[in-house]
Amino acid sequence: MAEFTMELNDEQKEVRDWLHGFAADVIRPAAAEWDEREETPWPVIQEAAKVGIYSLDFYAQQYFDATGLGIPMTMEELFWGDAGIALSIVGTGLAAVGVLANGTEEQIGTWIPQMYGDTHDVKVAAFCSSEPDAGSDVASMRTRAVYDEAKDEWVINGTKTWATNGGIANVHVVVAVVDPELGSKGHASFIVPPNTPGLSQGQKFKKHGIRASHTAEVILDNVRVPGSCLLGGKEKLDERLARAREKARKGGERVKNAAMATFEASRPAVGAMAVGTARAAYEVALEYARTREQFGRPIIDNQGVAFQLADMRTQIDAARLLVWRASWMAINGKPFTAAEGSMSKLFASETAKKVTAQAIQILGGNGYTREYPVERMHRDAAIYTIFEGTSEIQRLVIARTLSGMPIR
Ligand SMILES: Cc1cc2nc3c(=O)[nH]c(=O)nc-3n(C[C@H](O)[C@H](O)[C@H](O)COP(=O)(O)OP(=O)(O)OC[C@H]3O[C@@H](n4cnc5c(N)ncnc54)[C@H](O)[C@@H]3O)c2cc1C
Repeated sequence: MAEFTMELNDEQKEVRDWLHGFAADVIRPAAAEWDEREETPWPVIQEAAKVGIYSLDFYAQQYFDATGLGIPMTMEELFWGDAGIALSIVGTGLAAVGVLANGTEEQIGTWIPQMYGDTHDVKVAAFCSSEPDAGSDVASMRTRAVYDEAKDEWVINGTKTWATNGGIANVHVVVAVVDPELGSKGHASFIVPPNTPGLSQGQKFKKHGIRASHTAEVILDNVRVPGSCLLGGKEKLDERLARAREKARKGGERVKNAAMATFEASRPAVGAMAVGTARAAYEVALEYARTREQFGRPIIDNQGVAFQLADMRTQIDAARLLVWRASWMAINGKPFTAAEGSMSKLFASETAKKVTAQAIQILGGNGYTREYPVERMHRDAAIYTIFEGTSEIQRLVIARTLSGMPIR
């Protein structure tokens, strides 16, 4: 187990500087254009693929970094560049992690490379869990997967919504109900391979922020996938369902919620994205406050402005520390006895919303225009308190963990 450290090692510093260079030279200059276009920035993803930032190898390396700091460092730098473009680059990772966490070695080897494509023909992937009537309440999911034993195929029907890269992905990972009696324990994940008949894109959403990231409904109409597309395989699913049925039969027995443990481990990554956006807005505001003069002196000479900057920086640093702690706990298998993963996401995402609003205030009229990036950063920051569990759900998880109440 690696000791918790607040200092990046030399190798990590090198990677961080390389990521920062890409964020500063490629992502940031393209941010305003793709925000206006509200389209996936394919040329930037391709550029990221060419230099090795858009690849499974790179993320796997960061993911398995024993200090736990590889992923938060990566997210912070890329999202410092621009949140919408960065999400287009890392969104595939959400689906890839779904396969890494639940798939067999064969499934990992077959499908993850197809999620990324290659440097000449980049692809993206989508993770489809949310539904119109199942957002925070994942257990009320309706998309149904039924096994056709004669053909060894699964037949999937339902409507997914809010899917990042939904409909434009080469590979979709779809969560569906296989046993409606078991609530969230009766769910399973499926690969929907490229060009499978019956999968189509529904509405593409016009969003408040992260507009370079594609978000859409995904319609599944009698989608048939081979038995080999069930993540983890049928035998493992049958065993898991039998255990869940047995526990349900015994009634009320408290079971360790594996999905919750996974969320605790993945939420710090979203916290790190929020830290990146917050830091970007803070830096713009600091520079502006130093150089903008009113009443014959830089506006930072007013305590009213300087104290805001002091609070912004303090909160950003505190958010990063919570994120790093939770990431270190995740990689070292520490139990999240106080929902430290949710804590980090809650604090970092609320910080990003607050800090980006303060940045607009410090820039005055300029902050309110699209001539300066803080307006976009403020719109982007709003997503962090919504996806991967809203702030209210994070508080609910933390409170229930502290009180020992079950989390479903
Ligand atoms: C841009 C974007 C990208 C996304 N990407 C993906 C993706 O790739 N894949 C995917 O599967 N999903 C994705 N999502 C979905 C996202 O995870 C959901 O939007 C989120 O979980 C909230 O669900 P909801 O929107 O249905 O809100 P609801 O669950 O309807 O919540 C509405 C409000 O009620 C509050 N609320 C709900 N229940 C409670 C409670 N028990 N106590 C207190 N307050 C409560 C919420 O906090 C919120 O403020 C994305 C969403 C967006 C906007």
